[in-house]
Parts: sequence; structure tokens; C-alpha cells
Amino acid sequence: MTRYEQTFRNDLFAGRTVLVTGAASGIGAAIAMAFRDHGARVIGTASSAEKATRLQVEGIEGHVCDVRSDEQSEALLNSLEALDVLVCGAGIARRVDEYQWPVFRDVMEVNLFGTARFALHARTLLATSRGSIITISSMLSTFGDRLVPAYAASKGGVTQLTKSLAIAFAEQGIRVNAIAPGWIITNMTQELVDDPVSGPSIANRTAAGRWGMPQEVANGALFLASPAASYITGATLTIDGGYSII
Ligand code: NDP
Repeated sequence: MTRYEQTFRNDLFAGRTVLVTGAASGIGAAIAMAFRDHGARVIGTASSAEKATRLQVEGIEGHVCDVRSDEQSEALLNSLEALDVLVCGAGIARRVDEYQWPVFRDVMEVNLFGTARFALHARTLLATSRGSIITISSMLSTFGDRLVPAYAASKGGVTQLTKSLAIAFAEQGIRVNAIAPGWIITNMTQELVDDPVSGPSIANRTAAGRWGMPQEVANGALFLASPAASYITGATLTIDGGYSII
């Protein structure tokens, strides 16, 4: 796994506990390692024991947890004594297949309900720490895409959920923000990155002229969870190299 290049003070999150869902790969892994590199105790979810063990090796406390499961999600949160930051990173996209109802429902279950499940259940812990939640939305929360109707609907839901929770949780001092990444190189997008037409055409269509890296999304998560963002709640931070402004 790539190590995070440090920009912020390396003890920024010392003494803090951070939980990242979907920490075994891509954006979630980069976020988990960024918090680890800034002094936090980081707990990460993975889909298998093997992936959880790999997280342990990286200094992340790996737990097998399917965000579709109330039982597993609540058991993990109930096992924590404290929580300062929750990052809801778990997500799936099922190109084309999303027109099949069971697939559509599954995408909603992971992306939207998985985020809501963790955010709602973490409220009590976060109220104690006056902590914050970061959801991972997408630029597809504002665009449509004929290939991924469920993904786009779920991410629109994540952005709106973030705003409502920000209002409701503010009374307990909890901030809730979203990150909307653009095209980032991860397992989810590798096929497109490698495609000789789509790969370069996405890069060229982006103001920055290239795909983004997971660590560049992690930078935004560190900022949103830090005291520097103390007056930011209900916001969606776009990290897309300018893709959505063209
Ligand atoms: P990855 O496929 O690398 O990561 C997705 C993560 O979600 C994996 O760690 C996976 O775990 C986890 N996950 C999937 N299903 C479940 C489940 N049921 N329970 C628990 N965890 C689950 O892709 P990305 O890093 O790209 O995706 C991370 C987030 O970023 C997603 O929410 C995605 O929608 C979002 N995003 C990504 C963009 C991109 O361009 N890459 C753009 C915009 C948003 P495991 O591997 O263990 O199954």
C-alpha cells in the first residue's frame, strides 16, 4: 500500500480514534493510512479475514464487517469506547447490471444505507467527543449516468443525508461533511483507467489533465476532520481536478 505524503502536523490526530469503512482498498485505505500517519488510532473495516489481517500489518485495526449488516455494523460500533471521526468509505458500482432490481437494491444498501447505518449508530459516541463524520459521495450526486443509475441515486442520497445529519447533529457539536471525488484511480475504476480510449479521454476532459490519486482525497478528509474545519458542516468538498466545472 502507498504511504501517505505528509502535509499536516504529524500529531494532528494523536489521541483520536478514527473508524473508516471500506479501509481495505482505494480511497478508504488512503484515508485510513493518512489518519494513522497523523497519530490516530485507526479502525478499518474489510470484507474478509485476510484483508483485515493485511490492515493489521499496516497498523490499522482491521475488522471484518459488511456495512449491509445491522448486526455487524452495530457490533463494531458498540465495541468502541470512544470515537472522534467516522469516515463512511465503503461503496460499490455495478455498471449496466444496476438495471437488475436485486443489483440496484444492493448498491443502495451498501452506498446509502451503509452510510446511514454507521452515521446514525455512531451519533452517541461522536456526541461525547464532539467529533465529525465524513461521507464519501461522488460527482455523480449531481450528474446522471445511464450506466450506473443506482450508484448515482445512492450518491445523491449520501449528499442529502449529509446535509440533514449536519443540521440534526449540530446540537451535539458533531460536524457532518461529504467529499465528492471525481475520477480517482482505484479498483473501482481500474478497468476504465486501463482502457485505451476511456483512460486518456477522462484525463483530457479533466481540468487538471489527469486522473486523481486516493491520497489526494485523503488530504481533504484530514482537513475536514481537523480543527481547521471547525465552522464547516453540511458541506460537500469536491475533489475532482476540475472535472465538474467544465
Ligand atoms: P474500491 O473498490 O477500491 O473500494 C471500495 C471499498 O468498499 C472496498 O474497500 C470494499 O471492501 C468496500 N466495500 C464494498 N462493499 C462493502 C460492504 N458490503 N461492506 C463493507 N465494505 C464494503 O473503490 P474506491 O476506493 O474507488 O471507492 C471508495 C469510495 O469512493 C466509494 O464509496 C466510491 O463510491 C467512492 N468514489 C470513488 C470514485 C473513484 O473514482 N474511484 C469517485 C467517486 C466516489 P472489500 O474490498 O474488502 O470488499
